[in-house]
Amino acid sequence: MRYGDTKRILVTGGAGFIGSHLCERLLARGHNVLCVDNFFTGTRANVAHLLGEPRFELMRHDVTFPLYVEVDEIFNLACPASPVHYQFDPVQTTKTSVIGAINMLGLAKRVKAKILQASTSEVYGDPEIHPQSEDYWGRVNPIGFRSCYDEGKRCAETLFFDYRRQHDLPIKVVRIFNTYGPRMHPNDGRVVSNLILQALRGEHITLYGDGQQTRSFCYVDDLVGGLLAMMESGHEITGPINIGNPVEITIRHLAEIIINMTSSRSKLVNRPLPPDDPRQRRPDITLADRTLDWRPSIQLHEGLQRTISYFAELTR
Ligand code: NAD
Ligand code: UDP
Ligand code: UDP
Repeated sequence: MRYGDTKRILVTGGAGFIGSHLCERLLARGHNVLCVDNFFTGTRANVAHLLGEPRFELMRHDVTFPLYVEVDEIFNLACPASPVHYQFDPVQTTKTSVIGAINMLGLAKRVKAKILQASTSEVYGDPEIHPQSEDYWGRVNPIGFRSCYDEGKRCAETLFFDYRRQHDLPIKVVRIFNTYGPRMHPNDGRVVSNLILQALRGEHITLYGDGQQTRSFCYVDDLVGGLLAMMESGHEITGPINIGNPVEITIRHLAEIIINMTSSRSKLVNRPLPPDDPRQRRPDITLADRTLDWRPSIQLHEGLQRTISYFAELTR
């Protein structure tokens, strides 16, 4: 099964934004990587630079269907992450999280693989506790537009912990907070990609609501470091563990920074706030710091610079 330290690692959603960076890092560590993706939001282009690598394999497959492969570890990232995409076919979003989790857990059980779930800060919903620590149970609307994503991810967490309790599966659950960087989907409507593209194109910068809502943005390389640290942690460490950058800013301030960094003439315009849009979000990362010795190291300015360069190249 294993050859020295080289493992066979399955990354579901590996052709997506975070998944493609993760595949890259795993290959760089000498592992064999099986990237499984149905290309709903991910693209072959995201992993095109890896296709010539003999230790990399790309498979088109939808995780809502069973998958029989032999692997040592599984990173389960398959699921559209942006509201525009996960609300496009909400039933499929819930199926991806719930049935996808069942299939990947069944696979992990059969081959005795360690399995990590990419959960989300959205399990906290629109929180009354700030910042959010892992013992907070959240405030989620079960029947709203965001519910397919939030509740799907919550149910996936439930499944992970029940497979642990019933089958002693080695599970790892990380709750990812807003992440940004190169290979974000240009049309997925997320705030960092939207604002950078609008600024580069000289279009109006769209602030939803008054722009006073907050988020905390983690650069993708830091985030991937957190996923790797979690996977490598001991059997007793299951999570859930928050992974994110605790530096919190308002969306208006983010827009001003981006306008400044791109020397853009774009003007801010207000648009209606989408329903159930959380007012505040910031991770408490004390647990990740203590148990994984992990904390982000890339400042917002540096991360934005790299992301702006990527989008500038894309729009050239
Ligand atoms: P993404 O949309 O770029 O990537 C998701 C990938 O999953 C895509 O490649 C997509 O094609 C694939 N996919 C979707 N449904 C699938 C299915 N049924 N079968 C197989 N593949 C499928 O999003 P991302 O930002 O890279 O997010 C990756 C993971 O991290 C997701 O699970 C997401 O919920 C989680 N997450 C991301 C963020 C963030 O800020 N980016 C925050 C919290 C959690
Ligand atoms: N499964 C899979 N690959 C495997 C093993 C299982 O996709 O290698 C799927 C299988 O289709 C099943 C699910 O995982 O529906 C859950 O498997 P488990 O063994 O936990 O449950 P059961 O098969 O008993 O329903
Ligand atoms: N947002 C915005 N303008 C945009 C896109 C998003 O003001 O063009 C806001 C959005 O309403 C939310 C925040 O930015 O308050 C982050 O949105 P995103 O979709 O990136 O992530 P999420 O809401 O899932 O945290």
